[in-house]
Amino acid sequence: MAMPPMGGRMPPNYQRPKPPASIKDLPRYLKEVFGGFFKRFFYILKLVWNTGHWIPLLLAFVALFKGVTPVIGSLISQRILNSLQAVIQTGPQPESTFRSSPILYLLIALIVYRLLILVVNNISSALNRIAGEKVVKEVKEQIMTKSKEIDLASFDNAAFYEKMENAEREAGHRPLHILTQTLGIISSVIELISFMVVLLSAPGLSWITFVVIGVSIPSAIINFVYRRKNFRYMRFSSKERRQMNYFSGVLVDKDLVKEVRLYDLADSFIGRYFTAFKAYYKGLRKLILTEGAWQVFFSVITGVTNLVFYIMIAKRVFTGEFQIGDYTLYTGAIASVATSISTLIASTGTIYEGTLFIDNLIAFMNEKQTIIPCCQPAEQVTHGAEHTIEFQDVSFRYPGTRKDVLQNVSFTIQPGQTLALVGLNGAGKTTLIKLLTRLYDPTAGRILLDGKDLKTYDIKSLYQTFGIIFQDFGKYALSVKENIQLGDIHKEGSMETVAYAARQSTAGDYIDKLPRGYDTPLMRIFEQDGLELSIGQWHKLAIARAFYANSDIMILDEPTASLDPMAEQEIFNQFDQLRNNKTTVFVSHRLSSATIADQILVIEHGQLIEKGSHRELMAQKGKYYDLFTTQSKRYVTQEGEGNNRVLQDNCNK
Ligand code: ADP
Repeated sequence: MAMPPMGGRMPPNYQRPKPPASIKDLPRYLKEVFGGFFKRFFYILKLVWNTGHWIPLLLAFVALFKGVTPVIGSLISQRILNSLQAVIQTGPQPESTFRSSPILYLLIALIVYRLLILVVNNISSALNRIAGEKVVKEVKEQIMTKSKEIDLASFDNAAFYEKMENAEREAGHRPLHILTQTLGIISSVIELISFMVVLLSAPGLSWITFVVIGVSIPSAIINFVYRRKNFRYMRFSSKERRQMNYFSGVLVDKDLVKEVRLYDLADSFIGRYFTAFKAYYKGLRKLILTEGAWQVFFSVITGVTNLVFYIMIAKRVFTGEFQIGDYTLYTGAIASVATSISTLIASTGTIYEGTLFIDNLIAFMNEKQTIIPCCQPAEQVTHGAEHTIEFQDVSFRYPGTRKDVLQNVSFTIQPGQTLALVGLNGAGKTTLIKLLTRLYDPTAGRILLDGKDLKTYDIKSLYQTFGIIFQDFGKYALSVKENIQLGDIHKEGSMETVAYAARQSTAGDYIDKLPRGYDTPLMRIFEQDGLELSIGQWHKLAIARAFYANSDIMILDEPTASLDPMAEQEIFNQFDQLRNNKTTVFVSHRLSSATIADQILVIEHGQLIEKGSHRELMAQKGKYYDLFTTQSKRYVTQEGEGNNRVLQDNCNK
């Protein structure tokens, strides 16, 4: 009998319909339960149909075939046995008559029947595997295509994120499974009806049909109830199960292994795993044991009633009322009726639960995109030109939070200018860059590019305007060359262009020393000889990517956080020389870098508190002056005279 999957996660998106408050409320409840079920079910059907029309048609054919064949097989066997019994009763027959006896034809029919089952089963299981792969690909493709347009804000929402992860993990294999199960119900119904007809048409045995059904139903219901209980238990214990996964995962996590070893954390995490397991296992054991007790109870009842029926049928063979083939047919029919009822009830539960998971996919696919052009036709950015950027009274609050991260920020960047954003951690600098690049929209105020609201621009055209290196820039398990080329995948860049970008970022220095140079695979995820770069080397590669992109506006968010001060200064000076008068915005916690900027914005708690050039701000003796003098003192004491000279050189420019 098909058992619903154990240990499945409850879809977090699923809202259980509110139970009916009164009998009058029952239609509402049923409508919600069944309406929701059919909505999900048709979604699945459409999805599988779109993957390949042949898939649901094949599944339906197999379901019908599996429903009809058992009774045909039983009837053929009955006839064979009855014919053999007739021979025994009439006495031995000459061998020559065997050819014309019905036994031969029945045996041929049985062989053909078995062959047919074998062929259909093998073909359908091969096609099922192909269909499974195709459906997974279809769902993944839908998810990947959709994820291209999901707002960044949605990724900040924990519930959405979980929904997306679940859709990714679950939605691939579920649809086909649910469809197979549903069509399996058709098989069970056909099988049930056909064997009921057999029993009902048996002289004097029709009442047995109802007793068999009567005995099977409670057992099947118990099965169904416990599947649901298990399912709910898995949902309620999801925290413990996630903890178990997390704690066991910590011990094999590549990034954590150093700390786990050096701080001797392994036993502590193993202990935590056991604690979580104990909490999870306690309730589960009780469930398994009580279900087991019920199953034993019903098995005994089923066993005893079956024994009574078998004796009754055998007695009729004994008295000559039935033939031996009838015995096998009717006892088989009793077993088949019971099994079909159990399968029917269990599958219904499984299908219902299975469709709930699809809610994640439906919700994910229906997620509305807000970062789109406000008006049609959308504006195109004039690429290759110089640009003006203007923030007009911009405020911003992350979705689902209560505090403005930026408040009434206004400033203008003239074409070709360099702007430095300065401020303590958490001041709002990265957020400002996310707004400038329209990864988010301001909650109030406007941002203009070349005099037009960012919202009027075509998104692709807008994004191509920026060459950006984030603090948490991407590290890709590709070759060195490919990592640089990702800066602009539309460009058919030659090796010279790649190497030129690498030299600009100074990454070329270490790349030239690699045995396989620009073809060196990075990270040891796929390739044994993959190279693990230091964080500073990765950073230089990310900067090379930005140079390669050769975008109109360069943005560097803490571009030098993982570089030593000398390397930082080298990159900044290089950057300043090579940026070709492109508008540049950078965030750096090392103020020596800010000195090269035409304009410096000092941000504190989301507010723009000072604005001006290095000289102007130093003369103001405000926050910038404080930050700068504190840092330069530290340079003198910590970094030595060499660095201080670089700093002073820049300041004196
Ligand atoms: P900075 O770049 O100056 O260090 P950020 O712009 O990264 O600062 O962050 C500004 C504030 O916004 C911080 O308080 C941070 O916690 C908050 N913040 C950043 N990202 C998010 C987010 N995705 N959701 C909610 N709050 C965020």
